[in-house]
Order: sequence, then structure tokens, then C-alpha cells
Amino acid sequence: MKVLITGANRGLGLALTHHFLQEGHQVFATYRSKGEDLAHLESLYQKNHQLRTISCDVAEEAQIKQAKKELEQWTDSIDILINNAAVHLEQGRPDIGALDFSVYLPTLAVNSVAPLMMVQHMLPLLQKGQGKTIISISSEAGSIGNCWREREYSYCMSKAALNMAMRILQNRLGKEGFRIRLIHPGWVQTDMGGKGASLSPAESARAVYQRIMETVEEGMPQTHPLYIDWEGKPLPW
Ligand code: NDP
Repeated sequence: MKVLITGANRGLGLALTHHFLQEGHQVFATYRSKGEDLAHLESLYQKNHQLRTISCDVAEEAQIKQAKKELEQWTDSIDILINNAAVHLEQGRPDIGALDFSVYLPTLAVNSVAPLMMVQHMLPLLQKGQGKTIISISSEAGSIGNCWREREYSYCMSKAALNMAMRILQNRLGKEGFRIRLIHPGWVQTDMGGKGASLSPAESARAVYQRIMETVEEGMPQTHPLYIDWEGKPLPW
């Protein structure tokens, strides 16, 4: 399969890139700043250009358009798009009296709007692919039905908005045979999740990979839940 992954230079995106490569897929990995880890993977998987890396700040539509142009030099189709890139900008999780509203729109831009922009611009390539699969890495934090937090407004709001975007896409693109899924990857030891998290990036990536491949292979019958966790359990909207 040909897989496009955003935010692949560190954290879960890097681990997903590694896992898809190990499983023999061709990966197009986007980054904002290419670190040593992604460059190392590139050197390991240079045979047949199994890994291609592309610079792309997903909040900048012009950069998404440019990334698509680069992609089209190498392929005329993509099977799986994985919207992984996200930010958690609210430092220290302030209480209601101390919110810093300057981070709200930038959070929504990356976490909620950019995944939809990616879909819009990559759709012609996805429509030519066999996989017809769009995955957005969401979070249990985006669940309104199971909301327990008293803080973290901007991140939670951004993932709830992402969930709605993908739900509408499911209505629109499901008819064309597209599989759309929102996957909560678990609490993962990344810069965002912190060292005390329960899953290593590799463990989460292995589980998320399984959920993605099930989605590709089984298609998306009406009865399949759209919003699931890394173990496949449905999450309440
Ligand atoms: P990290 O903070 O470790 O990594 C985030 C990635 O997103 C980085 O590669 C970063 O690139 C990229 N990114 C951020 N902003 C942009 C942008 N504007 N354009 C392009 N890339 C960007 O997070 P995780 O790996 O933990 O998170 C991966 C996904 O999993 C996210 O969607 C997150 O919300 C979700 N998630 C994570 C959980 C966890 O416990 N870690 C729990 C639930 C969900 P750069 O290095 O350039 O900043």
C-alpha cells in the first residue's frame, strides 16, 4: 500500500512510519523539521525509494499544495492518508481564570482544519488508490459523551471538531467506498504524552497499524464504528 503520514519526524508519526516500512509498505512521510530519526529511517529504507520524505507544515495550505506537487512526481495514487500531526499548546493546563486564548486558533488550525485541508488536496490521489482509506489520529479527549476533564479546553475542543469533520466526510465519501476512521492511539510516551504514559510509541503504532489494516481490508460497513481506540473499542462521540 502507498501510505501518506503527516507529522512523521517524531512521536507516534515516526513510529507509524517505521512500522508501515517494516511491514513492506511504501511511505510518504511529511515533516516540518526533519530530525535525525527520520533521516536515519530514510537511509535504512532507501532501496526502491520505499520511504520518501516531504516538507509540509499542515497548517499552511500553500505547503500542502506544494507537497501534493512533489508527491505527484513519484506516484499517481495514495491508498491510505494518516492525519497524525497535532499540537497541544496550552502550557500548564490553566484553569478557567487563566486561559491563554492566543493558542486557541493555532490549535484548531493544526488539529481540526489541517486534516480536512489534507483530505481536500489529496483526494484526487486517494480516489485513484486501491485502499481509499482516510485515518485521523484523534483522542479520547475529543469525546463529548465521555468528557471528565475540567481543563485542557483547546486540545479537547480541537479533537471534537476533528471528529465532526471526519463524520461529515464519512457521509460524503462513504458512498464512494471510502473508509474513514478516527483512532485514539492510547496514552503514548511522546513529547505530547510525556514519559509517564502507558504505551511506547512502537506499541501504540503496532496496535494502530492493526486497526488501520482491518479498516482497509474489511471496508467500512454501516455497522462499523467510526471513532475507536487503539484496541478497536468504540468511543462515545
Ligand atoms: P508529538 O507532540 O510527539 O508529535 C507531534 C507531531 O506533529 C510532530 O511530528 C510535529 O512536528 C507534528 N506537527 C505539529 N504541528 C504541525 C504542523 N503545523 N505541520 C506539520 N506537522 C506538525 O505528538 P504525538 O506523537 O504524541 O501525537 C501524535 C497524534 O496522536 C496526535 O494527533 C495527537 O493528538 C494524538 N494523541 C496523542 C496522545 C499521546 O498520549 N501522545 C494521546 C491521544 C492522542 P514538529 O516536530 O515539527 O513539531
